[in-house]
Amino acid sequence: MKQLGHLYIVSAPSGAGKTSLVKALLERDSQVVVSVSHTTRPRREGEIEGVDYNFVTPEQFEAKIENGQFLEYAEVFGNKYGTSQVWVQEQLKRGLDVILEIDWQGAEQVRRLMPEARSVFILPPSREVLERRLRGRGTDTEEVIQRRLSKTVSEISHYGEFDYLIVNDDFETALADLASLFRSARLTQRLQQQRHEALLAALLSKV
Ligand code: GDP
Ligand code: ADP
Ligand code: 5GP
Repeated sequence: MKQLGHLYIVSAPSGAGKTSLVKALLERDSQVVVSVSHTTRPRREGEIEGVDYNFVTPEQFEAKIENGQFLEYAEVFGNKYGTSQVWVQEQLKRGLDVILEIDWQGAEQVRRLMPEARSVFILPPSREVLERRLRGRGTDTEEVIQRRLSKTVSEISHYGEFDYLIVNDDFETALADLASLFRSARLTQRLQQQRHEALLAALLSKV
């Protein structure tokens, strides 16, 4: 039987580099996919519908809650965000590893439903750098940046609920750290034994 993929939760304060790290990971690891959330947030310049997010109206979002379509959902910085239940289950069944880029409230809900999920929290190297990155991204108004910065401490205060912590100072180092989690999870004896059944049989056969 085909193995199920692993589920990962990746969270971070806004601007820490979560989206950039996940995007870079997907480019080098074809066994990983990221869940495209539904959001009521307005689309940013450069964001593509269906790729970065599924952009929906508050009414459409409510209808999806009613229909039980979300694995989790939460309000973050005044907008609603939710993860499609069906899509995630389908990818795991295909044997792919799935990343949920979600906030700590969503992480809490997913851990309760799927305790086998591994969770990763990304930290910036300092407050100053975090602020510089948020501004440097050039996608948000000053008001939005201020609102996000004001939530930084309360978001980071949840780091203790996560299995892994990665500091995103040097990008390539942080990416290698993240990639190593995905690789090591595929090397457990149970999974390797299934993958290398023929090799093990050959090595153990009497000569
Ligand atoms: P950025 O990730 O900080 O650049 O900003 P976004 O606007 O893309 O995301 C805002 C917040 O919503 C972040 O804390 C995300 O982790 C969170 N978020 C995004 N998608 C989801 C989702 O499907 N569910 C939940 N619970 N949170 C989400
Ligand atoms: P998040 O998704 O956590 O809000 P982003 O991935 O959008 O964060 O990153 C915020 C900004 O910081 C982006 O402009 C990104 O290019 C930049 N950035 C991310 N990681 C690093 C890093 N290690 N060094 C320098 N800049 C970075
Ligand atoms: P942004 O609006 O900058 O794209 O995202 C802001 C925050 O919303 C980020 O912290 C991001 O992780 C979170 N977020 C994005 N999608 C989801 C989601 O589907 N569920 C939850 N719970 N949070 C999300």
